[in-house]
Amino acid sequence: MHFLHGFLLFLEVKMKILVIGGGIVGSLLTKELSKYENIDVTLVEANYDLGAGVTKANSAILHGGYDDEPSTLRAKLCARGNKMYDDLVDELGVPVQRTGSLVVSEGNDGDKKKIIELYKRGIANGVSGMKIVEGEELRKIEPYLSPVFKYGLYCSSAGITEPWIVAINSGRLAESNGAEIMLGDRVVGGLVRNKRAVSAVLNSGKKIQADIFINCAGLYYEEIAKYFDVEVEKVLLRKGEYLLLDKAAKQFVNGVIFPLPTKMGKGKLILPTIDGGVFLGPTSEDLKSFDPEDLATTRNGLEEILKSSDELVPGISKFNWIIKSFAGLRPETEGKDFIIKRDEEISNFITVGGIRSPGLTAAPAISEYVINEILNGQMNIKLIKKEKIVERIPAKIRVREESFERISELIEKDELYGRIICQCNQVSEREIVDAVHSGARTIESVKLRTRAGFGRCQGGFCTWKVAKIISRETGIELEELIMNNENSYLLEGKVR
Ligand SMILES: Cc1cc2nc3c(=O)[nH]c(=O)nc-3n(C[C@H](O)[C@H](O)[C@H](O)COP(=O)(O)OP(=O)(O)OC[C@H]3O[C@@H](n4cnc5c(N)ncnc54)[C@H](O)[C@@H]3O)c2cc1C
Repeated sequence: MHFLHGFLLFLEVKMKILVIGGGIVGSLLTKELSKYENIDVTLVEANYDLGAGVTKANSAILHGGYDDEPSTLRAKLCARGNKMYDDLVDELGVPVQRTGSLVVSEGNDGDKKKIIELYKRGIANGVSGMKIVEGEELRKIEPYLSPVFKYGLYCSSAGITEPWIVAINSGRLAESNGAEIMLGDRVVGGLVRNKRAVSAVLNSGKKIQADIFINCAGLYYEEIAKYFDVEVEKVLLRKGEYLLLDKAAKQFVNGVIFPLPTKMGKGKLILPTIDGGVFLGPTSEDLKSFDPEDLATTRNGLEEILKSSDELVPGISKFNWIIKSFAGLRPETEGKDFIIKRDEEISNFITVGGIRSPGLTAAPAISEYVINEILNGQMNIKLIKKEKIVERIPAKIRVREESFERISELIEKDELYGRIICQCNQVSEREIVDAVHSGARTIESVKLRTRAGFGRCQGGFCTWKVAKIISRETGIELEELIMNNENSYLLEGKVR
């Protein structure tokens, strides 16, 4: 019997869906799929936590949605995704700050034309909160902006978030609703029979059979496609390097400041981070070969960032505020647009690839698109919502964000709130213990979940304390504890 007819005839039977890749895209999709009665969903992620791929190293901006041509999926899903984040705040307890964004130009005729084009494109894409600003109005929005900028586009619906927490909490909610989340195992092969994907082979030797496979593997989507005889557009990697500045720099920046975009992207920006620091960057450099592990920063790249940041906010690079440099890789394709489709040959295989910027912003809308347009629409699966689900993950208590009175109350009930482990970000032992109990097993997992180690000392003072807490709470020997990936042990051996 043809596979599709099989779907139509056996609607009551639970359908197994395997999502490959737990970045923001795969995790949000798994969360949504876990809400259906007739779906049994498993997510497999190669890293030891969700959101630790491209989702971990980017600008973390919720873009307004005026950059992309209205006919593209990127435009449609960005504008929609931006709006959907309001619901995610409530559902996943994730932080979103609508800081607004400002694209700045010197205001000559050519610049004005480009700004007006962006504005019109935004209107066509359904973006809310845009206005063209001139002269001193720019400095009311960003008081430390260079006086050379006289004309710009302000967008109040743009903002910032913490992308990996969106992924991690999506996984937690999905698990509460019956999904299986497999971490630290990777798909290394696939079995295809009669033009139908049958099972995925994992590094651990396990095989997972499924009725539908969804490829959300980010930079590795081409590799996954090959395992299942699916042809996809080549991935071209474009590196973006960044500098992270200490919280002291935040006084000079209110929202996201963009220069005028070029064909290489949205340019090198200045923006606040969700925990009160400042990002400078990213650069935009096409890698000559496919090396998804190349996350090195370069002297040239970092110098370029300092120069362009000083052009936007004069002097911002001059203080001793740099605490970290890092890089992320964009999964570019020649076609430029997101590739979200059911394969024509292998009809139970769905590709969600080429998810470059604005992929974070679009991610919730990408899930909606896969479910409505592909599963419900093209594949004609009548998805039935579960009658009862766990609806939300409560926002976590962060000592740093509470008032003194509230902190006193918390300590009264639980003294672990009073023991500060990460001094830079004021993360308490209770927050770290809770992160471990919610699944964190590595130093990086605790960092992503609590912000311990994200501050000025970058974990210099708290890593060892965090290691001891993980070991105490889980029974993992300190010698076995890793930073993030396989073999990234904290301890090498005994000194004496
Ligand atoms: C420099 C830069 C700046 C950006 N800025 C922004 C921005 O400000 N706003 C915005 O909206 N977007 C931005 N983006 C884009 C955004 O970061 C991405 O679109 C988004 O993170 C993609 O998420 P993903 O889930 O598709 O990929 P990923 O997060 O990479 O997830 C894919 C996952 O698949 C896993 N995986 C791979 N192979 C296997 C396998 N064989 N088996 C199991 N698992 C596997 C990986 O480990 C990974 O965790 C930026 C990107 C970059 C690089």
